[in-house]
Amino acid sequence: MTVDGKVAVVTGAGRGIGREAARILGEKGAKVVICDLDRIAMAEDLANQLGKDRALALAADVTDSAQARALVDRAVAAFGTIDILVNNVGGSLGTSRFVEQLSDVDWHRVIDLCLSSQFYMTRAAAPIMKAQRWGRIINISSAAGVYGDPQIWSPAYAAAKAGVTGFTRQAAIELGRHNITVNAVAPGGTVTERLREIWATNWPESEEQRKQRWEATIPLQRPATPEEVANVVVFLASDEAGFINGATIDVNGGERMR
Ligand code: NAD
Repeated sequence: MTVDGKVAVVTGAGRGIGREAARILGEKGAKVVICDLDRIAMAEDLANQLGKDRALALAADVTDSAQARALVDRAVAAFGTIDILVNNVGGSLGTSRFVEQLSDVDWHRVIDLCLSSQFYMTRAAAPIMKAQRWGRIINISSAAGVYGDPQIWSPAYAAAKAGVTGFTRQAAIELGRHNITVNAVAPGGTVTERLREIWATNWPESEEQRKQRWEATIPLQRPATPEEVANVVVFLASDEAGFINGATIDVNGGERMR
């Protein structure tokens, strides 16, 4: 997975899947902008680990188009360009809300977090990638958006993540002629801090019940680690993935095959 010498921006990279993607990109020789909003101290900690000459932590709310654009400008000012954009920010409400329980505010919050953020960042970074005729954009979707999920916490999340697939395909058509690939990764359950928080607060299930559920539904009988998802992100960002475009890659242990 060759990313040596490339410049990457990863959103929501203070913790979880984004952090792992930023870490692996940095360890493989890319310069990395580690963006976060609430967890900038964690982003700074990773930047220190990777080294100040090739990693920079920047605070931005990527659900705000002006801040997304400013983030792109600051990344270019720091490292000269952007080759790789990982649109990782996303999340649900952290609690079950069915259609009739969902407020307008909740709906727009999730759509902004999962979908508008990806549009704002892609729109801001595309001209830079076009000018150099090279780019890789990786959008984080979810199994919930590809297949639907009876256990999912919000129809807004399913809609937003399904939107990521459509946005990815359309952007791939438009940007492909400029030698920019746009792909998505759709993780199933991945044991990040966020998932642990959801388990603790909203999912009344014992450790044993959880294990039984995995054994019944996931052929690999366990959820993913953040690193397993991040490895696919980094592959899509690499030179070797140059002819994959418009794809959404499932990383779910085979959960959705039946
Ligand atoms: P996480 O909550 O652990 O990490 C997300 C990071 O984004 C946090 O550090 C947070 O501070 C930051 N962030 C939140 N809002 C932001 C904003 N507006 N601007 C900038 N940064 C912001 O999440 P995770 O579990 O690692 O999930 C990462 C992505 O993977 C999300 O898009 C999520 O929907 C998707 N996903 C996760 C799972 C899972 O089981 N963990 C499954 C499928 C898809």
